[in-house]
Amino acid sequence: MIRGLAKRVGDSFNYASRRIPKNTLHTAGNTCIMFHGITKANYAHINSRQLPLSIFVNHMERLGKYYQPVDLETFFHEKDKKHKKPLLAITFDDGFANNLHLAAPWLVQKKWPATIFVTGLNQSSSPFIWSDLVDLAEKVWKVPLLEIQNQRFIRQKDTLRHEQSFCTLRDYIRYLNPNTQFKEQLAKALQIHDRLANYKESPEWFALLSDQEIQDLDSLPGIQIGAHGAFHNNLGSLPLSEAKNELEMHALWLQKLLGRKVPFLAFPDGSYHEALKPLCYAAGFSHLLAAGELRSPKDPQDAFIINRREISNCGSPATQFFDMYRNFN
Ligand SMILES: [Zn+2]
Repeated sequence: MIRGLAKRVGDSFNYASRRIPKNTLHTAGNTCIMFHGITKANYAHINSRQLPLSIFVNHMERLGKYYQPVDLETFFHEKDKKHKKPLLAITFDDGFANNLHLAAPWLVQKKWPATIFVTGLNQSSSPFIWSDLVDLAEKVWKVPLLEIQNQRFIRQKDTLRHEQSFCTLRDYIRYLNPNTQFKEQLAKALQIHDRLANYKESPEWFALLSDQEIQDLDSLPGIQIGAHGAFHNNLGSLPLSEAKNELEMHALWLQKLLGRKVPFLAFPDGSYHEALKPLCYAAGFSHLLAAGELRSPKDPQDAFIINRREISNCGSPATQFFDMYRNFN
């Protein structure tokens, strides 16, 4: 009980230093917001993508005073008009199981629509988002050395870096070797299944939705599933033919799973370029979502791509304040 109370006090303090500044709430206009996971405990020491439920609720209730939550389709249609209360579209990336258990029940009870962008990774032998594997390696297991596809990555302070280029493992995966095989080899080099068998903490910050859970979410009132790539590869860094295969495969898998076509695609890691858009449209993804920034000069004239503002769980109040200010301006 004392622990529960201490957690609530800690979370309120965290939230108090991370509120979205009021003036930016007034000026941000129609907003599509992006979260990742919503958890019971606070994982800010591991990464910024999981937000404790109590802080999520604080943010949402504050946003609810200024904004009108709408579904994504309405948002795309109405985003360029001025509304009495600006519109708010709520989205979650990566398809964490905690979205079904914590975020969705709260949203359903509020009758606030939301879209949850899932990958097809639960079909793979190591069903994890690659950045969570890097976090497990760097922050949890503090792995000193990883050898993947004959490339060595050595721990420097808290970060694994490519021995030759000094590039971080994270950037190496984003830009230099963004394909699925490398991620599979990363999981293998980490001996992920053996290590997780001995993992004593809660897996709530990295466990992904199963097929059944994806279907359960999609059938909740106001909640819909969107696409986030079959393997969470950075599509903008992949050769076009590989990106095309991944998009087509993902569209078919989702259609089979949900019994309907999925029109919304959120680019993993916000990674795309202009030549990728026709491939997305051809695969059936008619509405596209960036993250953090629009990356093509043609985007402002394109009615079918939108940017999103992220609410994350940064380590320090100062970073969080900066993040809020940057994201809401
Ligand atoms: Zn993602």
